[in-house]
Amino acid sequence: MAQLYYKYGAMNSGKSIEILKVAHNYEEQNKPVLIFTSALDHRDEVGYVSSRIGLRRQAIPITEDTDIYGIVNNHQPKPYCILVDECQFLSRKNIQQLVRIVDELDVPVMGFGLKNDFQNQLFEGSRYMLTYADKIEEMKTICWFCERKAIMNLRVKDGKPVYTGEQIVIGGNDTYFPVCRKCHTNPPL
Ligand SMILES: [Zn+2]
Repeated sequence: MAQLYYKYGAMNSGKSIEILKVAHNYEEQNKPVLIFTSALDHRDEVGYVSSRIGLRRQAIPITEDTDIYGIVNNHQPKPYCILVDECQFLSRKNIQQLVRIVDELDVPVMGFGLKNDFQNQLFEGSRYMLTYADKIEEMKTICWFCERKAIMNLRVKDGKPVYTGEQIVIGGNDTYFPVCRKCHTNPPL
């Protein structure tokens, strides 16, 4: 039986490199995979999974209206695994399609994303991934400022922490830092 996996972690916890690694492992054995990502993430270009290590590859961008189930169902040959980056930006409707891919097509889906936003609210997409996933795994990384585990994302603008504003501001290493709870409250900036 296929399963729905959700692997969440703070910024820089290696989510994108894990997707590229898993895809490589399948493809090395001639087992095709399909890679999706949220169309909201344009840090590189829309429709790419990019790792800070430098590897990148094309992915199918997901919007609110993307028929993810149809794309997977019509794909020939049948994919062995579906990999989805930036799940925090997906809608409930998107995620219910991932569930159908697992339950009706018997294809495993591995979703990756951030759990909480910079104000420590659950992202909508994460809420539904945590609700529906068969297996949930934390991807660990260390706090940018100390030795503790990073469980939050600190938004920074002009060298100052930001605690209010829009939930979604797309940014990379200059905008967000993976931090522990203590450094989220009192970042040594
Ligand atoms: Zn810290």
